[in-house]
Amino acid sequence: MNLEPSATAEKLQNELGAFIESHVRPAEARYRDEVAASGDSHFHPPVMEKLKREARARGLWNLFMPHERWGAGLSNLDYAPLCELMGRDPLTAEATNCAAPDTGNMEILATFGTPEQQDQWLVPLLEGEIRSCFAMTEPWVASSDATNLQSRIERDGDHYVVNAHKWWTSGAASERCKLAILLGVSNPDADPYHRQSMILVPFDAPGVSVTRTLPVFGHDAGGGHCETLYEDVRVPASNLLGEEGGGFAIAQARLGPGRIHHCMRAIGMAERALELMCQRAQQRTPFGKPLADQGVVQERIAESRIEIEQARLLVMKAAWLMDTVGNKGARFEIAAIKVVAARLATTVIDRAIQVFGGAGVSDDWPLAAMYVHARTLHLVDGPDEVHKQQIARRELRQYEHLRP
Ligand SMILES: Cc1cc2nc3c(=O)[nH]c(=O)nc-3n(C[C@H](O)[C@H](O)[C@H](O)COP(=O)(O)OP(=O)(O)OC[C@H]3O[C@@H](n4cnc5c(N)ncnc54)[C@H](O)[C@@H]3O)c2cc1C
Repeated sequence: MNLEPSATAEKLQNELGAFIESHVRPAEARYRDEVAASGDSHFHPPVMEKLKREARARGLWNLFMPHERWGAGLSNLDYAPLCELMGRDPLTAEATNCAAPDTGNMEILATFGTPEQQDQWLVPLLEGEIRSCFAMTEPWVASSDATNLQSRIERDGDHYVVNAHKWWTSGAASERCKLAILLGVSNPDADPYHRQSMILVPFDAPGVSVTRTLPVFGHDAGGGHCETLYEDVRVPASNLLGEEGGGFAIAQARLGPGRIHHCMRAIGMAERALELMCQRAQQRTPFGKPLADQGVVQERIAESRIEIEQARLLVMKAAWLMDTVGNKGARFEIAAIKVVAARLATTVIDRAIQVFGGAGVSDDWPLAAMYVHARTLHLVDGPDEVHKQQIARRELRQYEHLRP
């Protein structure tokens, strides 16, 4: 296994690190102030457009995109450390046009989109002019099993008619969200894995509405997470992404890289939490000595460092496998790292919050928001149990002959 970054990746790592130091971190307070002053927690603050211009001028743009025609063309292994840096300072992902859910949407548009679909949607997304959302999860069915989905996509002449009730659609509260990529049932009589299709729904199409945003532990920010309705929404038949009945396969293709990006960013979050924990431990002195001199705090710091190193190696292995044997060949490692990274981030951030005392759960520090995000990683893109089930089944298969 060769986990050595390429020369290009090393250069980009240094450049991204310098951009974060000189522009992103200093802009964090201004970002918060501009959103607060607007009175709208989903406001897109001007400082973000400034950051985007700067990132682009520095060549730090669309780094996630594996297709050279459309972006940086980096391998997963080369992108991993960049994505980790983005996790440390969350504004970086949007500033460099590498934010979810657009990244996954752009990847499937690049892979499965027709030239017309790419002109209409992929190009403005790559330019950072618009944003998009991914509408799969539904309120009334257990959506961790996509074969349960009930939304309908029905052919009517040269159109499709979409009737869907979705929730947890991230990014849909942003006024810049112009496109939903929606998964629904188009072929109800086919086998469970060929019933769904994926369709491009312009977000301003008649019949599309956002009924509410769903705060996460009371936090409701950025593009929001929304409950959305699609009532008799008519879109041209040419809006179908890929083939009719091919939606499940496209969703699977989208999830591979998406999952590992979440994991890389989670490791970045854990690194930032450890950094903050160490700084705070040196500064605060309850009972006459710095917290850093307390064995229990040292234990938390040491465990955090050990766990981060372990998780990073597993992420790198998964990335290397994706590059060498493909996403399918790497599926067990992707499943494993999805569980490990969520656990790592929640554990390390939780330890940091404890060392911070009351400040840790306030919004004066990034730890509370990071914890909220890390906790959701146990659920999004498949809950932990589904990934563990996949791994356990593979292990058990070797011993099937022992069953009575
Ligand atoms: C902050 C956030 C953002 C999100 N963004 C998006 C988005 O942009 N687009 C989108 O479509 N969705 C999004 N989701 C939805 C997310 O992907 C789903 O919540 C997730 O897939 C689980 O589906 P569900 O909520 O229907 O849970 P269910 O399917 O009802 O599962 C409930 C629980 O059952 C358990 N479970 C499930 N399967 C098994 C099993 N095999 N063995 C044992 N236990 C099991 C797990 O504990 C699971 O948490 C988001 C969710 C959150 C919280």
